Order: sequence, then C-alpha cells, then structure tokens
Amino acid sequence: MPGASQARPVPAASSDAVLAVSDLRIGFRSEGVLTAAVKGVSFHIDRGETVALVGESGSGKSITALSTVQLLGASAEVQGSVKYAGREMVGASDRTLRDIRGNDISFIFQEPMTSLNPLHTLEKQLSESLALHQGLSGAKARARIIELLTRVGIRDPETRLADYPHQLSGGQRQRVMIAMALANGPDLLIADEPTTALDVTIQAQILALLAELKADEGLSMLFISHDLGIVRRIADRVCVMKDGEIVEQGAVEDIFARPQHPYTRKLLAAEP
Ligand code: ADP
Ligand code: MG
Repeated sequence: MPGASQARPVPAASSDAVLAVSDLRIGFRSEGVLTAAVKGVSFHIDRGETVALVGESGSGKSITALSTVQLLGASAEVQGSVKYAGREMVGASDRTLRDIRGNDISFIFQEPMTSLNPLHTLEKQLSESLALHQGLSGAKARARIIELLTRVGIRDPETRLADYPHQLSGGQRQRVMIAMALANGPDLLIADEPTTALDVTIQAQILALLAELKADEGLSMLFISHDLGIVRRIADRVCVMKDGEIVEQGAVEDIFARPQHPYTRKLLAAEP
C-alpha cells in the first residue's frame, strides 16, 4: 500500500495542487535487470508552497524531481502518477513534456557552471531562453534581461551583460541561473541542492533570494537538500527520503519538533 511505511499519514492533495505525485516508482534497467531506485513515493505541492525533499545521497531525491518532466533517460522505467496542474506527466507525449519544460517548470541545480554555456555572454544565455520561450528579441529582450538580473540581485546589470560565466563569482552564477529559471515565468521551481556548492554567507543570500521570490511571485517550489538547517529556513513541508521511499512527511515545524521515524531522528541528531 502506498505510504504504508510512513510514520505519519500522507496528506491528501487538494484539487489545485501544482504537483501531485502518487505511488511513483522509478527503476533503471541494465542488461535486462531492473533495479528499483524510487519505490512508491507520494507527496504533493499546493500552490505557493515550498516542499522539501531531504535525505542522504542516493536516496532518490534528484530522480524524483526529474520525473516531473520525465528527464530520466532511456534506461529508466517509471510507474505511478506525476500530475503537474492536473496533467499526467508519466507517459505524456514529447510535445507536452517540452511545453511544460519550456513554460511551466524550471530547474536550478547545484553547480551553475554545468548549466551555463561557458562560451556565451550573460546577455546571450538569457536572450536565447527569452527568444525560445517568450518570443522576445532586441530591445524588449534586453529590457527583460536587465529586469531579471536586477530581480535576482545582480548589481549594475547593464555592465555585466557582456561578461562570461567564468568572470562571475559562484554566488553570481547561481543568481544568473535563477534569472534563467525565472525567464519563462514558471509556475513551479525545482531547486536541486541549489546552495550546496556555495560558501555559507553566499548560501544565506541565495536562500534569502529564493524566499523573496516565493513571497513576491507566489512561486511554488520543490526544494531538494541534504542540509536540514537550510530546509528548516525555506520549506513549508518536508518529505524525508531514505532508500527510495518517503519515510515521513509533514509540516516543517512538526518534523523538526516531533520527528516520528527513527531515520528522521537520526538525521536531526546529526545536525550541527
Ligand atoms: P539523490 O539525489 O538523493 O542523491 P538520485 O536521485 O540521484 O539520489 O539517485 C537515486 C538512485 O538512483 C541512486 O542509487 C542512483 O545510483 C540511481 N540512479 C540515478 N540515475 C541513474 C541512472 N541513469 N541509471 C542507473 N541508476 C541511476
Ligand atoms: Mg541529487
């Protein structure tokens, strides 16, 4: 039974949930053998909510996130249901998935260098995305780029447009990644360990920015981290993952004050 191993009941998704994941199973096939990596995961994100997936490395957080737009590669076998705004993503057509990836769901990852093109200036990175997803070009695109860079806290953005990624600090690169993620006006932002590669002061600034975006733009967020201190600051609800299962989920204050599952207690005890 889905969720049967959980220490708390799985809350039911409301009808306007941005994301509703139900009994998600992900396996990878290699030489004919299917290895289960996600084993019946259920959770949802209501509009404007930030839900965190926490758990140790290899517990299945990233592939759960990638399953929202079915970016798992050919060896993956996905079962169950992942509904974005009521639309089923498991088994959806390439066209639907491209549409959702382009217009509705944006990702930010741990290391911005892997997502920014090292040979393109900031203006070029952002204008490609704006041309592709919003049909903007020329002066309109430029104005929108300045607006986006300002929004994510890049100072004097006009003077940075010709910069290449290597001319930016790690924190600035992550800000640019967030600007790119916002360029298509997403409904759901998926942040997969977005601050892990940054030093602590910069981490705090990026988290503050994400919290601000959540408050100002009503963004819904799936926030992935192995760092409980960070999750406590940004999430409304938390799903604790272990070995491809959610062992416990609930409101952030409940999980931190009254962890039910031994694994959650262990994670909390290991927190500095
Ligand atoms: P996390 O993000 O929690 O660290 P992942 O979601 O990246 O974990 O991975 C969960 C499990 O799925 C791991 O055991 C990983 O080895 C496996 N896995 C992920 N991607 C693939 C793949 N393309 N092929 C085979 N196994 C994979
Ligand atoms: Mg991961």
